Amino acid sequence: MHGETIHKEAAPAVPPRLTDYDRTRSAFTWSQARAGLSGLPGGGLNMAHEAVDRHASSDLADKVALRCVARDDSVSTVTYAELARRTARFAGVLRSLGVGRGDRVFTLLGRCPELYTAVLGTLKNTSVLCPLFSAFGPDPVEQRLRLGDARVLVTTAALYRRKVAERRASVPGLKHVLIVGPGAEELPGTASFDDLVSAAPDTFAVPPTSPEDTALLHFTSGTTGAPKGAVHVHEAVVAHHATAAYALDLHPEDVYWCTADPGWVTGMSYGIIAPLAHGVTVVVDEGDYDARRWYRILGEQRVTVWYTAPTALRMLMRATPRQGPYDLPRSYDLSALRFVASVGEPLNPEAVVWGRDVLGLPVHDNWWQTETGCIMIANFAACEIRPGSMGRPLPGVDATVLKRGEDGRVLVTGGGVTEVESPDVEGELALRPGWPSMFRGYLHDRERYDAAFAGGWYLTGDLVRRDADGWYWFVGRADDVIKSAGHLIGPFEVESALMEHPAVAEAGVIGRPDPVAGNVVKAFVSLRHGVEPTPDLERELLAFGRRRLGPAVAPREIAFDQNLPRTRSGKVMRRLLRARELGLPTGDLSTLEGTA
Ligand code: AMP
Repeated sequence: MHGETIHKEAAPAVPPRLTDYDRTRSAFTWSQARAGLSGLPGGGLNMAHEAVDRHASSDLADKVALRCVARDDSVSTVTYAELARRTARFAGVLRSLGVGRGDRVFTLLGRCPELYTAVLGTLKNTSVLCPLFSAFGPDPVEQRLRLGDARVLVTTAALYRRKVAERRASVPGLKHVLIVGPGAEELPGTASFDDLVSAAPDTFAVPPTSPEDTALLHFTSGTTGAPKGAVHVHEAVVAHHATAAYALDLHPEDVYWCTADPGWVTGMSYGIIAPLAHGVTVVVDEGDYDARRWYRILGEQRVTVWYTAPTALRMLMRATPRQGPYDLPRSYDLSALRFVASVGEPLNPEAVVWGRDVLGLPVHDNWWQTETGCIMIANFAACEIRPGSMGRPLPGVDATVLKRGEDGRVLVTGGGVTEVESPDVEGELALRPGWPSMFRGYLHDRERYDAAFAGGWYLTGDLVRRDADGWYWFVGRADDVIKSAGHLIGPFEVESALMEHPAVAEAGVIGRPDPVAGNVVKAFVSLRHGVEPTPDLERELLAFGRRRLGPAVAPREIAFDQNLPRTRSGKVMRRLLRARELGLPTGDLSTLEGTA
């Protein structure tokens, strides 16, 4: 079941931050982890102070914080001192606009230097930062701006034109749109980010910040209903900092590259906050995935620690298979690289071994989710790897496997839950609340937050097995959400968009397994009376989905089906659509409409 275990060198050139798993776990406390940070001079804790200002006033002031590789391959750098000034200016801009504590500032940007200015300046101002994925279409963007009560949006002219301008009126609370780069003058109701930032003073006194003040809002998807806004507080930086040391093995001298998009939680926690809190140099690539470009960046930028995703690794594997001359990676000097980790979707054992053979380093899988705010389960630099396993819980993280009931979710009896004691038995992964980056709520949705807990555990919605030695193995999701290319997609959001097309009566959306993306979104659609299911209509619906939802969320496949299976209460049974699609047993159909 485990395949080939990968053992580690006894004495690597850079001694790992965690050497003895059991000893570190038993000695660890979160209050000790807090001592690794500075705190605000007058007391309190602010993420941006930890990530920037404390370094800017230390001997790291002139160290490069960001090494930005532009699309044309030109490289520019920003020191910690300069980042402190830029973020102070942006905090000042917000203050001058009357945007204050708790007000929500959204970003809809790629990986550009201004993203860092906007995120950290917002945190300095004690406003709340909410990142959006730039591959979202107008529907998901509008919905999140509305649900998150956006006051400010920082974006580019092109993204604003394509995704926001026409919908602006339906987000009346959005008072300020700041345009990065050229174009603001041609767009009514916007202002130039660059002009405002360069006119602002380059010092800013961070107001008192309590560790419990809200810092970040991350939208995530559930099976039903609107996207959920997971609320995170400034104290989360304690967990970002500690877990980046243990699970990513970050050392002060590292050059670190995280390929995650800033619109998702990994791009924020481990693309921005954690590495800067460690005072390392962060490589920021504005370009898109391209095998040659990525090897070049790893080599030329002398990246030492690389955090990426299974889909990206699978794309690299296609471009540079294990059996072969490895010409592409060999044309670049990857000798600086010393640690590779991945997150977001199951990492197939072949990818771990491919890393060892082609990059010269195995890939360390780790697991977490938007709600947990930081890595919970990981393979560590000093420990053996069991390819296919997500690893073991981090110090300070208490995990378990809970028994499931007939509905597939955790079995709750009399308010209590049952832990699965035997090894290798499937159940739902649960975590004991109490780590600093645990989400504090879903925005405006107490009920869904409460439903995420039972018997004193936070229920992750993931199915896992734990082996006899305590290693966790991912099995699947307990609900219908879809992971495609590492992005979590709510089927309800896709179904709702499709149902706005005049030809569509109803839709049921599932993830169809795909060798590279993990899953692709497939929609089953029933048509309104009298509408013919033609290839033209199929193309039209695919295009409609892309226009409304954007390429990352839209269905890649449409199937017409006038008899979508439904529960007696009338809901489309995605589980059955999926089972039929995959040729799996259909399981318990007692709630299917039309059964006795
Ligand atoms: P998100 O909240 O968008 O970060 O998605 C979190 C979900 O991604 C988890 O609940 C898992 O279903 C999946 N996930 C994250 N990391 C892993 C991993 N290492 N292996 C398998 N699935 C993962």
